[in-house]
Amino acid sequence: MPQTKIIDDVNQAAQALREGLIVAFPTETVYGLGIDATSDQAARRLFEAKGRPSDNPLIVHLADVQRWPLAAASMPDSAIELLRRFAPGPLTVVVPRSPKISSLVTASLETVGIRIPSHPQARQMLDLCGRPIAAPSANRSGRPSCTTWQAVLEDMDGRIDYILRGDVCDVGLESTVVDCTNDPPVVLRAGRVTLQQIREVFPGTVFARELAEQDQLIKASPGTRHAHYQPKATIELFESLSYLNEIPLAKRAESAVACLSIKAASPEAGRSSFAGFAMHASFDSLEAYGKLFYEFLREADRRGLKCIYLQLVADCEQSHALRDRLLRAAGRS
Ligand code: AMP
Ligand code: MG
Repeated sequence: MPQTKIIDDVNQAAQALREGLIVAFPTETVYGLGIDATSDQAARRLFEAKGRPSDNPLIVHLADVQRWPLAAASMPDSAIELLRRFAPGPLTVVVPRSPKISSLVTASLETVGIRIPSHPQARQMLDLCGRPIAAPSANRSGRPSCTTWQAVLEDMDGRIDYILRGDVCDVGLESTVVDCTNDPPVVLRAGRVTLQQIREVFPGTVFARELAEQDQLIKASPGTRHAHYQPKATIELFESLSYLNEIPLAKRAESAVACLSIKAASPEAGRSSFAGFAMHASFDSLEAYGKLFYEFLREADRRGLKCIYLQLVADCEQSHALRDRLLRAAGRS
């Protein structure tokens, strides 16, 4: 394939999608790799470009909620209500699939994940295109997701046709995925829309992992079986900053470290905890940690570092998504 082209024109991106090409585009969560979801040929090319296992379905993106018949056969009331509350935004609903969607996109499931992104460029492109657009995260399979167009180029240059250039993604972690074919709905993947927010609408909602035996969960959300979000460097998770004091200087010189609000703890503690590390970051909030998480992993790889020490944030309502990605990146989930 000729070199991947970087473009700024949403019209050109929409036209390329209509022609069956692969176009990476920004969303508020992470960059996606878009294709026409009705095209088997485009889907085949996409799975190959990404190296994605064929049993891991893709989320279909639409410009607005009214266009659901482009992707779904029917909409359970719960899906309509959740989209009414949280769309456009970082929420995916799993609903019965329309036969028009390629079975490669749904990995032969009878359901399809639908999302309405809020990112202005994504919405304009989807609107102009008028098709359902399947889009997995824009990384090579298994690698950290991409939250900048440069990261997409790093992973996908020569493998896809276009990258629609946008800013750094705002949320930085993938959407919350909710299975609405179940009553009450079940959260398959944690994201910015929290379990608590969904429970305000449907009180019985639980995380799939609390409900199901592991093999049932894999059937419901096949993507959970595969390795995810992993940089080349080894990841070590720690809870307390005092853990860092045990790391010898030689090791620090080839390592990166990130934590939550070191300044709040004490500036002096911060300075000594970070001393000698090749790269370090202290994030002021869970949102800032989530937003820059994947880019931090990628930057450590660019610098050829051997190890990344990451603070495992405490378990709370707002931290579910970030904890999930931290544990998976470290191969612990
Ligand atoms: P990604 O494309 O990397 O954001 O991953 C999409 C996630 O959504 C994966 O974990 C998929 O398993 C999940 N997903 C997409 N479609 C479905 C579906 N029809 N049923 C269950 N999970 C889905
Ligand atoms: Mg992904």
